[in-house]
Amino acid sequence: MKPTTDSYQHKGLRNRLVNTLKEKGITDENVLKAINNIPRHFFLDSAFDKIAYEDRAFPIGEGQTISQPYTVAYQTQLLEVKPYDKILEIGTGSVYQASVLAELGAKVFTIERQKKLYEINKDFVFKSKYPNIKFFYGDGFQGLPTYALFDKVIITAAAPFIPPKLIDQLKVGGYMVIPVDVGPFQQMLRLTKLAGGTYAEERFDNFSFVPMLEGKSGR
Ligand code: SAH
Repeated sequence: MKPTTDSYQHKGLRNRLVNTLKEKGITDENVLKAINNIPRHFFLDSAFDKIAYEDRAFPIGEGQTISQPYTVAYQTQLLEVKPYDKILEIGTGSVYQASVLAELGAKVFTIERQKKLYEINKDFVFKSKYPNIKFFYGDGFQGLPTYALFDKVIITAAAPFIPPKLIDQLKVGGYMVIPVDVGPFQQMLRLTKLAGGTYAEERFDNFSFVPMLEGKSGR
């Protein structure tokens, strides 16, 4: 069961989490505000209620995780989200990252390859609060050609390489934030799409994500 009440205690813990994120170097006030506004414990089983605001990843079933808040804040900050940005997310997972993007006013198109997680997300707790999130069951390596082009693309799993189809679906001048495999860790890259289909690359810190896998899982 997932909790549905947001107590003063939760709000206090969330405030503390936001301070931790600031100490770790997150500076974008809008990102910090979004994280402060979203009850992360709603995205987790009630067993995690007391620890939901620790800066850690947690299991969400099917061997997958809700990303660490620092990682969510870091990727979101790099995306420089503006209201009405059309954003493609690969790896819906718990919908927490998608909710942060939606809270910032983006139109979010999110893809999940695990059927069970996709089905669970049909009853996502903030469905009516965030009608600007659209859910898709599919393989993120393919993207969503029907809905392209996107202003931004965010990949929330460890990519073995930069998926060429996702570059194709990005607008010129748009950003892709993607953790790319370098052994046990992935380096966070921000790619800027250039005219002619190429891209410029900026390199950031190392993180550890669950793998981005090819194809859909029918379970
Ligand atoms: N953004 C999520 C993080 C979930 S972990 C959150 O905020 O909770 C990464 C997710 O990516 C997992 O749910 C995994 O099933 C999914 N994933 C991995 N490879 C994928 C692919 N090729 N296409 C779509 N989703 C994928």
